[in-house]
Amino acid sequence: MSVRDISQALAAGTYSSVEITRRYLEAAEARNGTINGYITITPELALAQAEAADARRARGEATPLTGVPMAHKDIFCTRGVRTTCGSRMLENFVSPYDATVVTQLAMAGAVMLGKTNMDEFAMGSSNENSSFGPVSNPWDTNRVPGGSSGGSAAVVAAGMAPFATGTDTGGSIRQPAAFCGVSGLKPTYGRVSRYGMIAFASSLDQGGPMAPAVTDLLLPFAYMAGFDARDSTSAQRSEPWLEALRHGEVLQQSDGLRIGLPAEYMSKAGDSGAAVEEAVKTLEALGHSVQPVHLPHTEAAVPAYYVVAGAEASTNLSRYDGVRFGHRAEHPADLTDLYERSRTEGFGAEVKRRILTGTYVLSVGYYDAYYRQAQKVRRLIQQDFLQAFSDVDVLLTPTTPNVAFAKAALTQDPVAMYAQDVFTTPASLAGLPALSLPCGFLDGLPLGMQLIAPHFEEQRLLALGAQYQEATDWHARTPEFAS
Ligand code: GLN
Repeated sequence: MSVRDISQALAAGTYSSVEITRRYLEAAEARNGTINGYITITPELALAQAEAADARRARGEATPLTGVPMAHKDIFCTRGVRTTCGSRMLENFVSPYDATVVTQLAMAGAVMLGKTNMDEFAMGSSNENSSFGPVSNPWDTNRVPGGSSGGSAAVVAAGMAPFATGTDTGGSIRQPAAFCGVSGLKPTYGRVSRYGMIAFASSLDQGGPMAPAVTDLLLPFAYMAGFDARDSTSAQRSEPWLEALRHGEVLQQSDGLRIGLPAEYMSKAGDSGAAVEEAVKTLEALGHSVQPVHLPHTEAAVPAYYVVAGAEASTNLSRYDGVRFGHRAEHPADLTDLYERSRTEGFGAEVKRRILTGTYVLSVGYYDAYYRQAQKVRRLIQQDFLQAFSDVDVLLTPTTPNVAFAKAALTQDPVAMYAQDVFTTPASLAGLPALSLPCGFLDGLPLGMQLIAPHFEEQRLLALGAQYQEATDWHARTPEFAS
């Protein structure tokens, strides 16, 4: 069932939250052996929350999200339920507090089914970097679901949760959404609080919702978004449309948008090219105009992203020293031995690679050549977008250059893995909102397209995405595995 169907069924009294939650728990438990999309499933807690939601509804105090089940990426801190961030380092970590996103969805009455699998510390594009095993793509279990929010994408695609939270630093909501045939929104940087969301690269990290259709993203997004004094980069804005969404209103559709098709993306579109060209025709038939635009510094986005993200990761992850946080090595000979072995044992290979490269690009003698240079490139990429948005209202691109690849295909080639992020890192560096939605299939595997809007214009993305999905049915298809 879609988020909207569940919300309506609960409001009409057709089903109780306990009934719906039980069905999703059954699906989650039955399918997780194959998909491995959940690191932790929380049946007792979910049923208790569902009972509370039903009682709240009976008192007439329900929101449209009250009683709707969902899953949280295991990067969001949950009080009383372990938060691993996909890492052995935090295997037994139980946070003493909830992330703001968790609090806000809980206050709305959403029911948490469990915590989803992810690449360790959100570093990866295939979910093969998880300390809790790889996730299988429900469309072909020999293939990856994408990453780092691969668990969230897979549980949504496999009918193991109606929606899930994800996080996106350089593509981690959009790329797995594309690989699993679901919709995912990376909001504007600053829109969703980062408080209690375990930090990877703080100038880029942003939480957002994932669900089959764009209309299923509206309620989750509206309740995730908002100012939070506990996140120093949280945006303080009055947004009546978000408040309206929280009450279950639908978005006003815009007519005659000017849509830009970046030449630098289309020339590398690969598997996705034909499907995006087809989407252009659909959007034109809906009354929008499509024109080519240029984003000349696109090619520099992946290298700049991996410098900036690595640098920020190397500082953020210094807190895991076996003393204040994280896995602690046994029987240390001295303090240095404690630090060294705790980090050696706790972190996986990719996380170590990021810490090493990140420390290198920040070190004396290399800072100017790498880190400062990457920041300059970041500014140029931001300017490319600002320039493009003086001519068009929204940009249309492929989300990924290829369909979901086979497990183990890229694990030996980090640069090829990083190249997966070619279409998603630019909007991240610019802090722009971007939506990925299904736009076709190739050999039975889903393809995704990306819509990018100016800062804080999620409304435009969501309205256009919903309009596109009224005219197409790619998002409505489900993998055989889940049927
Ligand atoms: N694939 C990118 C990386 O490995 C993006 C990850 C993310 O958005 N969290 O860094």
